[in-house]
Amino acid sequence: MSKRAAKGARAIAIFGGTFDPIHCGHLIVAGAAARRFQLDEIYFVPSSRPPHKKRQELAAFAHRYAMVALACAGKARFVPSLAEAPDEADASQVFYSVDTVRRFREQHASDKIYFILGADSFLEIPIWWSYEALLDSCDFIVASRPGIRLEALRRIIPPRLLSEQKARGRNAIALRESTVHLLTSVASNVSSTDIRCRCERGASIRALVPPAVEDYIHRQALYR
Ligand code: ATP
Repeated sequence: MSKRAAKGARAIAIFGGTFDPIHCGHLIVAGAAARRFQLDEIYFVPSSRPPHKKRQELAAFAHRYAMVALACAGKARFVPSLAEAPDEADASQVFYSVDTVRRFREQHASDKIYFILGADSFLEIPIWWSYEALLDSCDFIVASRPGIRLEALRRIIPPRLLSEQKARGRNAIALRESTVHLLTSVASNVSSTDIRCRCERGASIRALVPPAVEDYIHRQALYR
């Protein structure tokens, strides 16, 4: 038993994304992170309007959330989250990850909190709102994506955010308040972009998304 478990503390992770749609790459990352970091729960948080993603046309939040819920069904540790659900009274509301982590911290005061994201997203983190505060706010699990070198991830972190101590191992970057863990055991090249393109041209998406998500996409005629 880990020291953390012995103390009765839990470990949870926030896995944010557009999930347009959620796919097997996301689930492989979540599963690998859960095993490696002994996570008790992973919250999949579809974002209503990601401030740093320029692409205009997203499937409706309700569809993206429904697919996340279908993908999590029957998986004890995977939890679909409405933490960034759009506010009906304020359609212009934008959610920032730094605030989402803060709200999770309020609700899970004694838990260890991780933030999961892919290497491509981590490379963009300097353009996220208040990213220095975000990097200080919890540990990160960065999943490798084909074509992105670990060195590139280290380079985007401003030196002033790094810990004075030695780096914590080959697959971890020690920051002043937190650690960025590199999850190098995953190498999935599935992407939502590819799935949307396949749907548009009528190609199969079998094995790229869970069967219930595939069924939902076809029934709702998404991405055509
Ligand atoms: P899109 O192709 O529309 O940009 P995506 O496939 O990257 O979408 P997102 O919903 O944007 O999916 O991803 C949520 C998070 O999961 C991001 O941090 C992204 O980097 C990560 N991610 C997505 N697919 C993979 C994958 N195959 N391997 C590792 N990380 C991934």
